[in-house]
Amino acid sequence: MIPILDLTKQYEQIQAEVEKTVLEVLKSGQYICGKHNKALQEEFAQFCGCKRAVALNSGTDALHLALRALNIGAGDEVITTAFTFVATTEAIGIVGATPIFADIDSNTFNLDWREIESKITPRTKAIIPVHLYGQPANMPKIMEIAKKHNLYVIEDCCQAIGAEINGQKVGTFGDIGCFSFFPTKNLGAFGDGGMVTTNSDALADRILSLRNHGSAVRYYHDEIGVNSRLDEVQAAILRVKFPYINEWNAKRKENAYRYNDLLKDVKDVVCPRELEGTKCIYHQYTIEVPNRDAVQKYLQEHGVGAMLYYPVPLHLQKVHKNLGGKLGDLPVTEEKTTRVMSLPMFPEITEEQQRTVVNTLVEALEACKAGV
Ligand SMILES: *Cc1c(COP(=O)(O)O)cnc(C)c1O
Repeated sequence: MIPILDLTKQYEQIQAEVEKTVLEVLKSGQYICGKHNKALQEEFAQFCGCKRAVALNSGTDALHLALRALNIGAGDEVITTAFTFVATTEAIGIVGATPIFADIDSNTFNLDWREIESKITPRTKAIIPVHLYGQPANMPKIMEIAKKHNLYVIEDCCQAIGAEINGQKVGTFGDIGCFSFFPTKNLGAFGDGGMVTTNSDALADRILSLRNHGSAVRYYHDEIGVNSRLDEVQAAILRVKFPYINEWNAKRKENAYRYNDLLKDVKDVVCPRELEGTKCIYHQYTIEVPNRDAVQKYLQEHGVGAMLYYPVPLHLQKVHKNLGGKLGDLPVTEEKTTRVMSLPMFPEITEEQQRTVVNTLVEALEACKAGV
């Protein structure tokens, strides 16, 4: 079986360092917001090339607290994509605001900047582009629209740590960048974790307070916050893994280009396309195929862990039924959800495994064409 993601090989690479640092934390008696939390924040801000970073419990909390820090709430609208993980719009719902969906670009699967302006109303407060699969959304265009209409921008970078546009890291274009350290992400903790990035001291300090029960000074509470501190064991583990991120991202890219090469003569398969000037970090390697559901089933039955991210667009999910979304609202999003399929992708996948994936895919396409 070739899984969509195999974390065991990465653990072998870093096992000695991780186990040493975890034991040190356990012996230290300092389990919440110790030296590792602080150091990770500084290292993360430096890596992204921004002023501040604040470590949190999850990527979902990063989005939620970013919205809180920008005072977005009931009665406000936030324009985003329906072609993403539910956490993006869940965060909008948690603060009482309303997600407004704009369609995606058919090449990148990301929010199409041409679709944004027609969705703006007097209630619009922010735009949340998602850098899906590790491919940057068109931030220069999105920032242009945001500036023109005086809107905040929160970047959902949960799948895109280290991705760049013209040498600038994602998470530093908008007002706040949101990252996830869920174990399957490109920089994964051994549990949940998240981070926000910003160039604003005021926003960073507000999120520091919000993550800690609305408190900047112990036992003095300014507003309703949450408990969302990244714990010290996870921060320590992430600091061991962080120095490898460029190497791991580069290997993902190498593997993606190998897939491109192996697939170049396979009819009917659409490989990922990169926007000019962008550095994609291939959180997923996602192709488009005909007869997608049957092809995926064939792959699963023949030892290839192909996955669908995501099978149902958010405007058609039960959770957002109250928004009145219906089939036909977002034609590109709807078409892509029936065609996309992600292939096994991780830094350590071997060339032999990739060849097996592609050979099995070729078989699957043939078999499904014949109606097997
Ligand atoms: C993973 C993910 C999130 C949520 O991150 P968690 O750390 O799991 O809460 C949000 N948005 C996108 C696009 C994601 O992939």
